[in-house]
Amino acid sequence: MAENKKETIVMFPFMGQGHIIPFLALSLQLEQKGFSIIFVNTPVNIKKLRQSIPPSSSAIHLREIPFHSSDHHGLPPHVENLDALPYPLVINFLQASRSLKPLFTSLLSDLIRAGDPPIVVVTDIFFGWSAEVANELGLFHVIFSGAGGFGLACYYSTWLNLPHRKTELPEFSLPDFPEAGKFHVTQLAASYLAADGDDPWSIFQRENLSAWSKSDGVLFNSISELDKTGLAYFRRKLDRPVWAIGPVVLPAPARSGKRPDISAEKCIQWLDSKPLNSVLYISFGSMNTISASQMMQLAKALEQIMNINFIWVVRPPLGFDITAEFKAEEWLPEGFTERVVQTQNRGLIVSQWAPQLEILSHKSVGAFLTHCGWNSVLESLSQGVPLIGWPMAAEQFFNAKLLVEEVGVCLEVARGTSFEVRCEDIVDKIEKVMKGDSVKGMKMRKRAGEVKEMIRDAVRNDEVKGCSVKAMDDFLDAALLRKEKTKLVSK
Ligand code: UDP
Repeated sequence: MAENKKETIVMFPFMGQGHIIPFLALSLQLEQKGFSIIFVNTPVNIKKLRQSIPPSSSAIHLREIPFHSSDHHGLPPHVENLDALPYPLVINFLQASRSLKPLFTSLLSDLIRAGDPPIVVVTDIFFGWSAEVANELGLFHVIFSGAGGFGLACYYSTWLNLPHRKTELPEFSLPDFPEAGKFHVTQLAASYLAADGDDPWSIFQRENLSAWSKSDGVLFNSISELDKTGLAYFRRKLDRPVWAIGPVVLPAPARSGKRPDISAEKCIQWLDSKPLNSVLYISFGSMNTISASQMMQLAKALEQIMNINFIWVVRPPLGFDITAEFKAEEWLPEGFTERVVQTQNRGLIVSQWAPQLEILSHKSVGAFLTHCGWNSVLESLSQGVPLIGWPMAAEQFFNAKLLVEEVGVCLEVARGTSFEVRCEDIVDKIEKVMKGDSVKGMKMRKRAGEVKEMIRDAVRNDEVKGCSVKAMDDFLDAALLRKEKTKLVSK
């Protein structure tokens, strides 16, 4: 019955929710297409994933690679996910992840020895080293980016060129990506600002990003229509195929690895009681957070805008001791919860983690105040919800630039965690986007609706195939073709 044996695909995301979520979503899609998936990660993440994989997904096999954070400089013990780390330690975690190389190599070698070589090895943008590993073993390798093409192109070019270090001016452009336009230093994450070429971030990224050239291609959780400029950049730079196969969105039931603080039913019940487009959803993703003073300004703004409701995922503010117990109300203006949440019933304060997909797909949600992490962006636009951007780290600033300047679905309210944001400015931006009579808001909502249609068309798989469906077919054809070629050579 050799003919019926499923082809194997190895998936290996970086250890962070924003990375694991799109990899798992893609794995579920590939499993549906008849592939057997080996999903690799470290023990704590695999344990959580066991609760996320639907029982019907018998062809997704979880495989652990041991990882001991305490073996690595600066890391506390038992840390296996970005969400358990304060931002300054992210670089230590990235460096430590290189220790996974020998064990991942053995895992692939064992599969080959067992007569089950994967038709493709799909790894994270932070595992550039894995391209060479796969190459040496004669395996087809692709990088899967959970980030969009434009954001990642700016990220890639900025790390490899450090353009802001070559000018005294606050504005600069990217030498190999001029079509991206002008950037301002405030659009750079803290790690870029501290970079001089010899610092740990620069060294890690130079090595990591340069190693992508050894990969056979890049998959993007993006839509070619939405993200043309960034995708074209990578085709040009890497001279490799680039497939935009998104959005791959992890269905809500498969997210149980991370417990929401409030049930989806409760959220929906509350949202049902609110008028159309009247609720602002606020979340800064799985690891970013604002400062204590920014939190105060945001709360004051929410209290001032009487006719707007909100669901706010409040995470401990910057600098909070993550081993201590976090109580959201202690970080909000005195009496805020009693007045705004209990008496006026205008808001839900969710501590740490909310059922985001269910919230965004509710008709009462009129805008999303977000850090512009790409998963959140896609989840919002898939529902036609316009964005209020507050980028904080990584490529989020570049995502915001694309959404504001090119796509027209976002208004930026603040940048970063040291930005002195004022309550009045937050009020102004929220009203511009959400007030029924705001021309800007109407335009953004209309555009977000168009993008929702664009996304729906991209994933159509009936008599007409959407661009993302076609890209997925092309990617799988390339993997299967490579396998056939390898077979012919070894005969
Ligand atoms: N997420 C969620 N509930 C939360 C916060 C985040 O379900 O309270 C999910 C969100 O739906 C998204 C992911 O976590 O799929 C966050 O990814 P994103 O790329 O937006 O940001 P990151 O966390 O990587 O910065």
